[in-house]
Parts: sequence; C-alpha cells; structure tokens
Amino acid sequence: MASERQIHVGGVPVGGGAPVAVQTMTKTETANVAATMAQIRRVAEAGADIVRCAVPREQDVEALRTIVRESPIPVIADIHFNHTLALKALDAGAHCVRINPGNIGGPDKVAEVIAKAKEKGTPIRVGVNSGSLPKHLRELEYTNPVEALVTAAVETVELMERLDFTNFKVSMKSTSVPNTIASNRLLAERIPYPLHLGVTEAGTKWSGSLKSAVGLGTLLADGIGDTIRISLSTFHAEEEVKVAWEILKALKLRERGPVLIACPTCGRLQFDMDSVVAEVERRLQAYDDPIEVSVLGCAVNGIGEARHADFGITGAKDMGMIYSKGEPLKKVPTERLVDELFAEIDRYYAAGRKVVRDERAAAEAAAWLAAEEDATAMTPERLAALEAEKAREEADAAAERTPIDEAVSPVEGRRFTRA
Ligand code: SF4
Repeated sequence: MASERQIHVGGVPVGGGAPVAVQTMTKTETANVAATMAQIRRVAEAGADIVRCAVPREQDVEALRTIVRESPIPVIADIHFNHTLALKALDAGAHCVRINPGNIGGPDKVAEVIAKAKEKGTPIRVGVNSGSLPKHLRELEYTNPVEALVTAAVETVELMERLDFTNFKVSMKSTSVPNTIASNRLLAERIPYPLHLGVTEAGTKWSGSLKSAVGLGTLLADGIGDTIRISLSTFHAEEEVKVAWEILKALKLRERGPVLIACPTCGRLQFDMDSVVAEVERRLQAYDDPIEVSVLGCAVNGIGEARHADFGITGAKDMGMIYSKGEPLKKVPTERLVDELFAEIDRYYAAGRKVVRDERAAAEAAAWLAAEEDATAMTPERLAALEAEKAREEADAAAERTPIDEAVSPVEGRRFTRA
C-alpha cells in the first residue's frame, strides 16, 4: 500500500498514491555551482524527479540559493549536525530539507528547524540510519536491528507530531538488504507518512544496482515506497537515476522510454549480437515512447519469445528478419538489420503509431523463417515441450497402474505393523 499522506517536494507529489518519484544526489561540491548545475541538468535529463545536494558548509548554503533558482527539478538540502545550516537552507528556498533528528543537536534544535519549515511551507525528510541510532536503542540494535530501526523512526514521527508537523516523509536506511525490507514493511504498517526507500552505501554500479533492485524491488512490489534513491559508488549520479528507472519499469510502476529485450545468447547464435544490442540500445535513447524492442539471437525462437514486442530483430548467419508483434515484416542482410529496424520504427511513428506492412516483403520473410526452421534443433521451447510431454506420459502411466491396496499390502518383516 502506498502511504496515506502526500507531500509536495516543489511540484513533485510524494506519497498518497502518486507515481514513485525518482531521486538522486549530486556528487559535486555544492559550492561549485557550475559543476553542481551541470550534474543536476544531467540527472534531470536522465529522468530524476528530485535532486538532493549535500550542504555541509556555509559556502554550500550560499550556493544553494542559486542552485534552487536555476535547477529544472526540485532541490533537497541534505543537512547533518548543524541545525543553523538547515535554517539557512530553508531561507535559501530549498524545496525540502533532509535532517537526521538523531544528529542535529537535540529536540530543541529539531523544533527550531520544524518551526521554520512550517513558516516556509517546506517539507522535511526525517531520516534514521542504522549507523546513527539514538543511544537508548544501541542495545536493541545488537539483538534486533530491525526493531531498533523501526523504533527510532516511530520515535522521530512522534516527535514531528508533537511539534504539530505532518509535512514530512521518512527514510530508514540500512546497509543490509533484509533489514531494509523487514524494517520498511513494519514501518509502512505503523505510520501513514510517505516513505523514502534506499539501501544505504549499496556499493559499486554492479553490486549496488543488484542490491538495490532486490531490496527496493521487493518493497515496491509490495506497494511500499513513495520515492527511491539508488546509492552507487560512482561519480555519475545519472547512473543512479537510470538504475532507479529500470527498477520502476521492470515492475511496471512507471514508464519511461523504450524497453529493450535481448536474449542471453547461446550456442545457436550466428551473428555478432553484442554489437547489435549495444547499437540498438544506443539508438533507442533518442526515443521517449515506451516502445518495446526485442533483439534475439536466433530466428526460430525470435518470433515465439518476443510476440509482445512492438518491434524486434532476429538473425541467422548472413540474413536476419524484422518483425512486429511476432509477425514477420521483412528479411534483410545482417549488416543492415539495425538500420532497417529503426527505419521501420520511424515509419511506425510517421504513420501515427501504425505498423506499415509490405505484404510481399512480409511473405518473403515468413518463407525465409520457415526454411530456417530446423525441426531437429533442440531449442529451449522444444526442450520444454518435450519435458512437458514426458511428464504427461508419466502421469498417465501412473494413473493406469493398479493402485496399492493398503489392506492387502505385505507387512511382514516391518518393524511396525498395523493394529
Ligand atoms: S535459442 Fe536463440 S533466442 Fe534463445 S538464447 Fe539462444 S540464440 Fe538467443
């Protein structure tokens, strides 16, 4: 379930059933306005809805005013330890301020920040982190880290409510994927406020993306989470945005740009698919529509496995085929596959999202496909069909066998006999 409550970070709704917002964090020195703005523009281009900037010093909060004014997407100021910077960030017009009430200097300082946020109408993100839990929860952290995280988050929420403040979202971060999943599941049941999801310090682009996909994907599939940030050890913040989008697209939670399907290849592959996939992926970046394009390594499976793809290509040694929704469109020499694929896609858009079919070329492609098909090839589909057939035969044979009559079954020699 999405959170009951909704807040607005700039113009972006978060929670209350709004689309899951993608956010990232700049990795530049915030005071370097030119570099920070360049990165913000890149992440916005990649699809970030919201961006966060670290504000650890006076010069950063000074730069923030310009950044907020020039940024194409809402800006969150990320503050630790120094509540004065949080107050200044609110004055600088930040669209949201992230504080960790556990390290900002005590409840009085939190109250000061919240009073200013109320005055400005600015939302706050309150975060608890497995690395900085309040002292009284340290023991619980050893015995039950999930409960410790959730307790810290609930205590923070109670503090906000005591301050008569509800314009906030909550994040609860852990480096452990199971703890992230378990704690957010519990918290989602206990509070109505929007949840910011992330696996903290997830790691490199490769392992961090996988950890995030498992942790955040599990929660999002449960309907938990209103905004996500993928934390990757890369200077290129736009990579975090791309991963976030892939997770949302995989779960069909949001659509953005084309979806590329590509087979893993196997011993049946007869053309240089790696280069073809890379080229298709590169050229698809020019399209905004959520069109589905498939690249498959062999002709026989191409049609069956990508029946749902809007367009696809499949190849053999020196000839390949372009198809749409599982129907052949034309056969073309392998070296022209990619160009012809994009010619077909462009024709589709020019015709108002309609596949333009040349019946003669389609018939020729269908005939080529039939000739290519080798009835003896052990394709995955045929293997699956053979296994299914064998299972059916075994089930039939079992049904025909005389059922065992327990009453006449031999019991002699058994340690236990029936009474
Ligand atoms: S059988 Fe064909 S489509 Fe399937 S993995 Fe192998 S090459 Fe790709």
